[in-house]
Amino acid sequence: MITVTGATGQLGRLVVTGLLDAGVPAGEVTALVRDAAKAADLAERGVVVTVADYTDRASLEAALQGTDRLLLVSGSEVGQRVAQHTNVVEAAKAAGVELLVYTSAPRALTSTLVLAPEHKATEELLADSGLPVVVLRNNWYWENYDATIGQAASTGQLAGSTHGGVVWPASRADFAAAAVAVLTAAEVTPATIELDGDAPMALADLAAEIGRQTGTDVVHHDLPTDDHVALLRGVGLDEGTAGFVAAIDAGIAAGELDTGGKGISGLTGRPTRTMAEHVALVLGR
Ligand code: NDP
Repeated sequence: MITVTGATGQLGRLVVTGLLDAGVPAGEVTALVRDAAKAADLAERGVVVTVADYTDRASLEAALQGTDRLLLVSGSEVGQRVAQHTNVVEAAKAAGVELLVYTSAPRALTSTLVLAPEHKATEELLADSGLPVVVLRNNWYWENYDATIGQAASTGQLAGSTHGGVVWPASRADFAAAAVAVLTAAEVTPATIELDGDAPMALADLAAEIGRQTGTDVVHHDLPTDDHVALLRGVGLDEGTAGFVAAIDAGIAAGELDTGGKGISGLTGRPTRTMAEHVALVLGR
């Protein structure tokens, strides 16, 4: 049995449907969810739906009975995740899970990225767990730029504070395909994999591509961090959120997402979505 947590989330759902597309019988796939109603379509396809919450270890222990391979999709409640992931790992041990796959962050053990500490702590507790583990250090989703692409296309402006730093993005579908490849492999060797797209991207590249596809000039403003925060506050973000967004750009500026590329295609054997393809998708071209 392959169990996927976060199965009603955007990534987890793609993994579940990817497993089915890869030929895994629906009855051998469990969608671990908080709200069964959100998984009704998966249940209709024959996927086993089980309800559990990362905050409730007993629910996780019950849900993971019979699981051979588990994908732990990192939680979305920042600040709560180490305790939550601890519950999942302890439950996986109790259930005798044979392989745990975890979605981490780039270079989690050494990264200064604002999002990294909870992933570092999770990787450490996984290393201590004694479980066979594959850590998939997911780089950046193309989808993180969807709002930016839309705004840049309509305003001709694209602001950030990444100072030329690059990410190696891929689509959620690409990241899901890589997870499916690991979960369905005949034999899996414990590993930590920098999971990234095939080509690097800086914000200036994105601005240029949006300009190319819209036939307009899109100006990239590379701002000092304080000015970036002030700009974000000016368009209505609260102080915490504006600081968080700018802190992510500071991590990108420091090279924390510059991981070298081709981690996903190395697993799937297929190229990842290009910048041009993603911009075209968002702009409906
Ligand atoms: P989503 O927010 O769409 O999905 C998160 C999933 O986690 C949801 O299914 C949610 O359940 C589930 N979840 C959250 N809290 C709990 C809990 N307490 N108990 C059980 N399940 C819980 O995120 P994505 O699918 O887009 O991304 C997956 C993960 O990747 C994120 O959670 C985050 O850690 C990370 N991420 C990575 C990014 C990157 O660029 N590399 C960008 C953004 C996120 P429910 O469906 O009930 O809400």
